[in-house]
Amino acid sequence: MRPVVVAVAITGSVPRKADNPALPVTVAEQIASTRQAYEAGAALVHIHVRNDDETPSSDPERFAAVQEGIRRHCPGMIVQFSTGGRGRDRASRGLSLRHRPDMASLSTGSVNFPTIVYENPASLVTELAGQMQEYGIRPEIEIFDLSHLHGARRLVDEGLMNARPHVQFVMGVENALPANERLLDLLLGELRQILPQATWTAAGIGRHQAEVMDWALERGADAVRTGLEDNIRVSKHQLAASNAELVGLAVERVLRCGRTIATPVEARAVLGVPP
Ligand code: ZN
Repeated sequence: MRPVVVAVAITGSVPRKADNPALPVTVAEQIASTRQAYEAGAALVHIHVRNDDETPSSDPERFAAVQEGIRRHCPGMIVQFSTGGRGRDRASRGLSLRHRPDMASLSTGSVNFPTIVYENPASLVTELAGQMQEYGIRPEIEIFDLSHLHGARRLVDEGLMNARPHVQFVMGVENALPANERLLDLLLGELRQILPQATWTAAGIGRHQAEVMDWALERGADAVRTGLEDNIRVSKHQLAASNAELVGLAVERVLRCGRTIATPVEARAVLGVPP
């Protein structure tokens, strides 16, 4: 069995509130939080940035500043920028890619979210995939619905992506895919049919984080994902103190199922990211 990449999504787009005070929002907080998560075992960091008023930002220089700090303090860690849409207009979603992170998230279809439609029209997906290819960035394909797998296959067929992308199934977002083991099997079955070389993981949102992680590990996932973007609690009654605490819990789950934690060098080999 290959070692498991632990990915940490440190911030996301949800406002910092009383129930998530540990959320890192400024550039300095994000770098410090990533460093702790790295020391706890994370080899990949997924990044959103914020404006001074803490609203989601598309400012490429903020992305660059966070990336620079992480490269300095977390040698070898895989840096992944979000091209996600919440609070950002279409034209600005790919602006940060010019700073050439190792990876970037890429949603290959639209879906209902709790209060909005997360819009990813085919033309935008094509545009973002083209930019990632131009800059040598590995996409992480975000799957919120079965049709999104076919959206990824289309990019391979059109020569915009190689046939071994990294795929993440996202489960437990209200109004999108529920966290359900049978659905994960269905999605994995389809992935193996249409993108047999892909590496994969599954992310459970909110209270589903631990169970989805276990289902993924039982099925030989290449990575697991945790972090305050997805889940702010360590139990029903206790808030997570930090991203590092959540990474620690993920590491325990990986070890418990008899697998090892990927170092940054190993993580790059597993996910096909150049050193
Ligand atoms: Zn994200």
